[in-house]
Amino acid sequence: MKCVNCGKQLPKNAAKCPTCGTFIENGYTEAYQGKTKSKALAGILMLFGIGDLYLNNPGRFLKKMVIGLFTLFIGSVVMQIADAIKIFNGTISTDAKGIPLV
Ligand SMILES: [Zn+2]
Repeated sequence: MKCVNCGKQLPKNAAKCPTCGTFIENGYTEAYQGKTKSKALAGILMLFGIGDLYLNNPGRFLKKMVIGLFTLFIGSVVMQIADAIKIFNGTISTDAKGIPLV
């Protein structure tokens, strides 16, 4: 198998091209076999305000809380809904550490 980005030969079952860092679709999925996270759960938790913690992203969680304090929580609710939509439509497809949501 060759890298789709730079064309270099890839090691078997590589999750990532060692030359340019491009993620390889099949290898990527195999590398994370059993370690993926639930997209549905991530989206639902996002609506309850704790989705960012599930996605290993405490920084974004805190940011929403701070925005919430200044907007009577309207700002954080809007952000949670927007993030839940992004999870469901695939715009957000991994957690903050790159673990795929399936
Ligand atoms: Zn490459």
